[in-house]
Amino acid sequence: MQSSTSLAPVSRPDLKADPDSGARPQGRDAELCPVCGRAGAQEWLRAPDRLHGRRERYTLVRCPACSLVWLSNPPKPSEMPLHYTHAYHKLISAGGENSPGRWGFRKVAIAQYKRGGALLDMGCSSGAFLESMKGEAWKLYGIEMSAETARAAEAKTGARVFVGDIVDAPFGRESFDVITCFDVLEHLYEPRQVLAKVGEWLKPGGIFYVLVPNIDSAEGRVFGSYWAGLELPRHLFHYSPPSLKFLAEAAGLSVVSLETHRNAGVGTCLRYVWDDVFQAVGIRRTPTAYLGAPGLPWRAARKLVRLTILRALLAIAPLAGGGESIHAIFRKS
Ligand SMILES: [Zn+2]
Repeated sequence: MQSSTSLAPVSRPDLKADPDSGARPQGRDAELCPVCGRAGAQEWLRAPDRLHGRRERYTLVRCPACSLVWLSNPPKPSEMPLHYTHAYHKLISAGGENSPGRWGFRKVAIAQYKRGGALLDMGCSSGAFLESMKGEAWKLYGIEMSAETARAAEAKTGARVFVGDIVDAPFGRESFDVITCFDVLEHLYEPRQVLAKVGEWLKPGGIFYVLVPNIDSAEGRVFGSYWAGLELPRHLFHYSPPSLKFLAEAAGLSVVSLETHRNAGVGTCLRYVWDDVFQAVGIRRTPTAYLGAPGLPWRAARKLVRLTILRALLAIAPLAGGGESIHAIFRKS
């Protein structure tokens, strides 16, 4: 669970897909990579929505050329609200959306390239990041799907927030010095169209700062279908550093910085494994989304695990793969 949005901006479906099928209409061999356009996608894994303890299984496929992984049988956009439950939103908020410390690193990263101007946060939710950028140097804008959440963001930050799909926002060419997109891109149906908008809206020399989960991370490799970052079916696309780079370069952007950061979700991954172990012997545990706030003994036990097992796992994680979160900065030339 790395998303910080209260309601993910869900764009329109791919017009090439059959709108009633809930899946792409052709066989897998004919399924072209939505980012690089190559054929030959291979099945990567199948998994259910473990967060909500649901049974329906989703199929992920991987492009042999750019390494993009995507959900081959996504829910229709009209069905998506069923997957963004109240419990999900509560969990995301509890994850520290309103913690100002969370934004410190990102502010410092932006300050290396831009000290002021017009900034657009795509999928701004209730404006926690925009609020952290408040000040005379920045003119702030946002895009958010939920009207109520957008109004809250405007009231808190003074930003102008467009309500609706990213691809429908009416911003003019070369409007922004900085565009940010934190834990949102993986939720969108049309990443290429969204990146085309970024390329259009940025001023020459403007920067695009994006965070997405890393499908090629150590946790992703070790836990496979139990990886907490899969977030099925809310995450439609699963990026690696090469596929994200390909997507941005196709929109006329060039890499300034592309790194992966540790964002350990081992506790959730292990819980998903145990859910299946219990299920195998006929015991259905409360799904993670509905667990509620942990009591004091549980919090103490969790802290102990963090200080011991987790610290050891983090030390050896680089042997298995990159960090769980991709932080990338691109520039429009
Ligand atoms: Zn590809």
